[in-house]
Amino acid sequence: MSGKERPRMAACRIGIGTDVHRLVAGRKLILGGLRIPFAKGPLGHSDGDALVHATCDALLGAAALGDIGQHFPDRAPQWKDAPSLRFLRLVCRRLAEAGYAVLNLDATVELERPKLAPYIPRMRRNLAGAMGVRLSQISVKAKTGEGIGEVGRGESVRAAAVALIQKL
Ligand code: MG
Repeated sequence: MSGKERPRMAACRIGIGTDVHRLVAGRKLILGGLRIPFAKGPLGHSDGDALVHATCDALLGAAALGDIGQHFPDRAPQWKDAPSLRFLRLVCRRLAEAGYAVLNLDATVELERPKLAPYIPRMRRNLAGAMGVRLSQISVKAKTGEGIGEVGRGESVRAAAVALIQKL
């Protein structure tokens, strides 16, 4: 291979996203676009949906299209208290415009209370709907902080996500 030749770009690309929000009284707890009854919720400019924010960053990262803060600045008035599923729809539109399709998403939410198991099916449906993919392409898992660290003390909610995308 001469120096000018490049290996063919792989058709599949992977991306990672993480997010954390401080939990405070008087905010709605929203995860995966779902309102979950609880006394505290995430502090943030938008609705503070850590699961959706990590998902957006995983998708943008896979496509090397920057990050959620570049696309939806937290100083911009139009995103104040915005439902984060709107970010996810726009991110998926930008990936589609760049010629990518989502193969799968795997995400984990860390939250001490409340237990998220009953809400996971609806979170998956919301994510799949916003991303325009099948339910089987979306995985959402939940775990507690085991009583330690800021998650374990109930001070924050964290999320991490990995996305695999394919160039069409
Ligand atoms: Mg966030």
